[in-house]
Amino acid sequence: MNVYNDAGQLVFLVNDTKHAFALRNIKRPESFGNAPIVLDLPNGGTLEFDRESCSSTLQSWKVLSLSWFEKVQYHPTQWLLIGIASIAFAIGLYGQGLPLISKWIAFATPPAKLSELMGNVLIELDDVIFQPSNLDDQAKSTYQQQLNSLIAGRAELSHVRLAFRSSKIGPNAFALPDGTIVLTDELLNFLPAKTIPGVLAHELGHIQLRHMFRRLLQNALAGTAIAIFSGDVSVLISTLGTQLIAQHYSREFEREADLFAIELFVKQGRDLAALELLHEKLGSLDGSGSTDSSYLDSHPGAEERIQLIRENQ
Ligand SMILES: [Zn+2]
Repeated sequence: MNVYNDAGQLVFLVNDTKHAFALRNIKRPESFGNAPIVLDLPNGGTLEFDRESCSSTLQSWKVLSLSWFEKVQYHPTQWLLIGIASIAFAIGLYGQGLPLISKWIAFATPPAKLSELMGNVLIELDDVIFQPSNLDDQAKSTYQQQLNSLIAGRAELSHVRLAFRSSKIGPNAFALPDGTIVLTDELLNFLPAKTIPGVLAHELGHIQLRHMFRRLLQNALAGTAIAIFSGDVSVLISTLGTQLIAQHYSREFEREADLFAIELFVKQGRDLAALELLHEKLGSLDGSGSTDSSYLDSHPGAEERIQLIRENQ
């Protein structure tokens, strides 16, 4: 029987009667192996084709769109490439997508909601690493005034609070996702008084840019992805406090917070020399100035940070 394609119509003759069906109306049920290809016609009839001799012709007529299963069966190389592309996509999603999704969620969350969600982080940390501060009220009020003047006129930072603690983790300052800046006695006793606004400005940058919340979201999303793929939900069971201690900010976040502090200092006409002095002091504390220190909020080396100030003066 002669079957041909006439401008989108499948045409054939049966007992001298011409039959024509639009190719787009013809269905092709899945078939496997070397079984003949069977087409379902709109009139309820079927047409059977030898797979080997007809499959490329039918494919060029677009009646033969292969199922996934058949593609794998007939084109293993193509399948391998699809597999590799999928893995690359997953890695890309992990590397680029999760930070983007986390950023979007973090900035879509109002500060009041953040306080509600993250308000217990400090309580958790108090259980694990902190003791009450030994600072006197006058010192505390000085630092509070320094914070007030830094956030004056910035409604988006009006929720920021200071918390003073003493700790075996030593000199440290960091910003919790709910907008609490924790300062350790050890840090305040170590640094010259005029460098503290620089510490606060840097931490305000982390809060403004929602760094800690973004990092927690990224970890949670990555943990969820791992749990889905591995079927192991134990990766999801970890407390916020433990996560905070276990991980450092990325260099990118630190740089952003440093830039925020520099911009704030310039806007308010503050002396950038105080920022430089701060980084020198913190650098000396680090020893090598490396990022691998006991800080919860681990910073780039002093030289790099001072360079950033000079570039942005
Ligand atoms: Zn930082």
